[in-house]
Amino acid sequence: MVLALGAALAANVPGLVEVEWFGWHVAFHPVWLVVALALFWCVTHIARRAWNWLRWKSGLFGPARTLRRQRAALGNASAALAALVFGQEERAATLAGDALKSDPTNVMARAVAAMTGDEARIEQLDQDRATKPLAALARLRTSPGVSAAEQATLVAPASPVAWRAVVEESARAGDFAGALTALPKWRALDDEAERLGSWIEAALRTGAADAELDEEPARAELARALKAEPRFAPAATRLALFAEEAPDVSAAERAAESVWSVQPTPQLGRAYAELYPLETDSDRLARLQRLAEQNPKHPDSLLLVGEAALMAGDPSLALDSVVPLLETPPVRLRAAAIALEAYRRLGMEPAMGAAWLDAAATGAPGLRWQCTNCRTQTVDWVLECPNCRHVGLMLPETAI
Ligand SMILES: [Zn+2]
Repeated sequence: MVLALGAALAANVPGLVEVEWFGWHVAFHPVWLVVALALFWCVTHIARRAWNWLRWKSGLFGPARTLRRQRAALGNASAALAALVFGQEERAATLAGDALKSDPTNVMARAVAAMTGDEARIEQLDQDRATKPLAALARLRTSPGVSAAEQATLVAPASPVAWRAVVEESARAGDFAGALTALPKWRALDDEAERLGSWIEAALRTGAADAELDEEPARAELARALKAEPRFAPAATRLALFAEEAPDVSAAERAAESVWSVQPTPQLGRAYAELYPLETDSDRLARLQRLAEQNPKHPDSLLLVGEAALMAGDPSLALDSVVPLLETPPVRLRAAAIALEAYRRLGMEPAMGAAWLDAAATGAPGLRWQCTNCRTQTVDWVLECPNCRHVGLMLPETAI
């Protein structure tokens, strides 16, 4: 505009623009001025577009390069986190290292590196108030223990991982009272822990009873375990094994019967059968029939009565009891063995004998305990998962 105005002022011939500049003399028609301005605009526009393309799209320098590196870092950091979740520690550490090479400020990559035991990264997270809880959780992960867990709950009081660690580390260290105190906090922060809370409490109390050397406190702990979770068979089983005198035996008997109605186990059946060591075989059969009535169709009820009937000299009753278990798969080895023995005592030829044993050899076993965390199964109940070491999460398959 300024140029055009200057040109118009300098014009002394209408229709022709004349410019005198440092000895130069230029005269041209105004149309050429318009054409020159349009050309100038086009060239600057194209140059600007090219510059922007270089800065943003090519990613060679400037903000686009930073963005590209941040994006690459984010990709690697996410992959590192996934690797950590799936337990691939080495891969997680490598990917987090790659991410930090592209973008040293990536918090996710820092956290993953710290979780895989990178001391320098843990220190770095500890420096910043916002990432202090991550540092505590990383320390807890790399060197677990009661004090690391308690430290984690101080800086990350809303972290279910920290409270779970206090429960588990305390129980592992034998401090069941500490574990039971922290349990409600874990339950309040974790839906899964809340759902299974009564089972976990019963497991911790049963663990406490197992660790106890005196019978009296152990018995009290088992009673509390059954109060928390009346279906927890290991507590009822131990209570039955402890029972020696009149009031104890009937209390153990009642506990076993109420557990049997929801959660029969072979161990509980055996403990219940042994409650009165001096009784006759037919008295024991009558008592076990009463127990079986609590859950009459359950395989463990039928097996228990079948075995007791054989012992009491009633092979027909034994056969009646276990035949339903042989008619539908999976056949149990115990059922096949009872039936074969009952037929032998009745002097009859079991036509199905070999087939039953074949089916039983591949058939499902009785109740199993399964870890809610890693799905590892055990035949007997244990406080700590033999695979993932989590405490209090071995539950009957049917409860999960
Ligand atoms: Zn496990």
